[in-house]
Amino acid sequence: MKVLDKGFVELVDYMGSDKRVVQAARVSTGAAESTDKKDKLLIEYLMINEHWTPFEKIVFEFHVKCPIFIARQWFRHRIGSFNEVSGRYKAFEWECYEPEQWREQGEKRQGGGTDFDFSRNLSTKGVFNNALNIAKRTYDLFLDTNVIKEQARLIMPLTHYTEFYWTVNFRSLANFLTLRSSEDAQKEIQDYANTILGMLHKMDDLKFTMNIYEKVRIVKQLTIKQMNVNIDKFILNLQKNIK
Ligand SMILES: Cc1cc2nc3c(=O)[nH]c(=O)nc-3n(C[C@H](O)[C@H](O)[C@H](O)COP(=O)(O)OP(=O)(O)OC[C@H]3O[C@@H](n4cnc5c(N)ncnc54)[C@H](O)[C@@H]3O)c2cc1C
Repeated sequence: MKVLDKGFVELVDYMGSDKRVVQAARVSTGAAESTDKKDKLLIEYLMINEHWTPFEKIVFEFHVKCPIFIARQWFRHRIGSFNEVSGRYKAFEWECYEPEQWREQGEKRQGGGTDFDFSRNLSTKGVFNNALNIAKRTYDLFLDTNVIKEQARLIMPLTHYTEFYWTVNFRSLANFLTLRSSEDAQKEIQDYANTILGMLHKMDDLKFTMNIYEKVRIVKQLTIKQMNVNIDKFILNLQKNIK
């Protein structure tokens, strides 16, 4: 699936399903008769009560192409395994993410910047493209003059594309998707997270898991948003509800 101007995310392989989750969970209680209704209820129970280990039985392998600045955010998710293309052994084919729309820094430090108007957008694109051209010409010059590849790449900008394989289980993927599809996350990584969400929702094998996860994700994001607005008010409301 295409993401941004030249990126993508592809599901290369996966293992596990709703059935695997309930099988793993029932090992502790003895096998119960498996019906769709019972399986769905069990999956709901597990996720709402944060019994996450059965969801670790579902494992995905993704192939991702994204700008380096997105990969840096992605690699912060430690529970998983990455293999990334190297710029030491092979020269990069110059490929950069060039935003169609530039955004203005607002009061908020994270996310949500408003779009530049037409003329400001155009002039920012111009400045950006000039800088990229200089970086590209320097990289090419380094290679032409036989500078070692591992040093030639020092001139590469954060917007340059990189590629990696990511092996991740559902539990860790759910954490990634909740954090990175949130409006606090950078718009570009939100695009990747939302693409993956779309892909998973189409998988019949994960129908029950995705159905309940979607609700859990939305509630979690709303709760965090509310807490950010006014933490004291939020705690007060919680205390009132507990009493
Ligand atoms: C909107 C946003 C803004 C951010 N801003 C910054 C920033 O300014 N600077 C910055 O450095 N990072 C920033 N981050 C990255 C963030 O701090 C996390 O590193 C990242 O989101 C990965 O989350 P994680 O640790 O839950 O995931 P994973 O590393 O995949 O870990 C999954 C879970 O495993 C457990 N776990 C993993 N490792 C340990 C451990 N060593 N000890 C205990 N438990 C562990 C935790 O329960 C964790 O939630 C930001 C993230 C987001 C979403």
